[in-house]
Amino acid sequence: ATPVGLLTGTGRGAQLGILIKGPQVLEDTRTVDTILLDKTGTVTTGVLAVDATAAFSSFTEDEVLRLAGAVESASEHPVAHAIAAAAKQAMHDDGALPAVQAFRSAPGGGVLGTVEGRLVVAGRTGWLEDNGIPFTGGQQEVLAAAEAGGATAIWVAVDGTPAGVISLRDTVKEGSAAAVARLKHLGLRPILLTGDNAAVAAQVAAAVGIDAADVYAGVLPEGKVEAVRRLQAGGATVAMAGDGVNDAAALAQADLGIAMGSGTDVAIEAADLTVMGNDLTQVAQAIELSRKTLATIK
Ligand code: ADP
Ligand code: MG
Repeated sequence: ATPVGLLTGTGRGAQLGILIKGPQVLEDTRTVDTILLDKTGTVTTGVLAVDATAAFSSFTEDEVLRLAGAVESASEHPVAHAIAAAAKQAMHDDGALPAVQAFRSAPGGGVLGTVEGRLVVAGRTGWLEDNGIPFTGGQQEVLAAAEAGGATAIWVAVDGTPAGVISLRDTVKEGSAAAVARLKHLGLRPILLTGDNAAVAAQVAAAVGIDAADVYAGVLPEGKVEAVRRLQAGGATVAMAGDGVNDAAALAQADLGIAMGSGTDVAIEAADLTVMGNDLTQVAQAIELSRKTLATIK
C-alpha cells in the first residue's frame, strides 16, 4: 500500500472538517457495519430549553429553578446549561445565582451540592431513588406525564425531599435524518443510545429513521461500553459517535470512536475521529471517503 492515497484521504478529510488520529483510522472506518449514536448533542443539538417546572409541597416553581440552577451552573451537561440559563432568566435581576458548595456530579445520573445551607440534588429518577429519595404517587405522575409528552424530566430534591420536576426539550439536528439514511445506504445499522428516558428516545429515533428495536434508552455510561462490547461479541464492527463525558469509555471501546467537535475534551481524546462541524452527515462522509480512499490504494 502506498501512503499517498491515505494522505490524500486525510487531506480531503481535513477539508471536510474530519480529523483523524492516524492512517489506521481509515482502515477501521471502512470496515464498520454498526453505528451507535448517542442522542443528546450527537443526533440532537444538545441545546435544551426548559419548558415547564412543577413544584411540590411548600416549594415555588421559581425556588425549584433557582436552587437547581445554582447547582447545575457547576456542571457542563446540556441539561445543566439549560436549567442554569432558565434559572438566571427567572430571577429577573442581574441573573446571579447563589453559590454552590461541595458540588459533585454523577455522569448519567445528576448533580448535587449545598446551596444556602441546603443539600440540593438534581437528576434522573433512578439515580435519586438510588440515593434514597422517596417520591409520592402524585409526584411520579407529574414526571410520567412530562416524559409521555416527550420531555426530559429532571427531579429536584432539597434536603432529601422532592421539591419539583423540571421538563426540558431538545431539538433534532437538521442534518440527522438525512445522515441516518446515508449511513443505512452505506450498509450500516444505526442504533440510538441514550441515558435519557425511553419515550424521548423513541421520538428522536422515529424522527431520524432509526428502527424502534434499535433504541437503547436509560443506558448509564458503563452500559454504553457494555453495549459496544456486546455488539462486538456478536461479530459486529462497531462505530460509536458521541460528545459527552459519559460517552468517552464507549468511544474508546468502539472499533471506531467518533467525537463531535463541540464535544467535551475527554470525548475528543477518546475518539479516533472528530467531526468539526458536529454534523452526522460528516460521519457518513468520513465512511464514504475512507472507502473511496482505500479503493484508490488497492
Ligand atoms: P445522554 O446519553 O442523553 O447524553 P447522560 O448519560 O449524560 O445522557 O445522562 C443521562 C440522564 O442523567 C439524563 O437524561 C438526565 O436525566 C440525567 N443527568 C445527567 N447529567 C445531569 C445533570 N447535570 N443534571 C441533571 N440530570 C442529569
Ligand atoms: Mg451526548
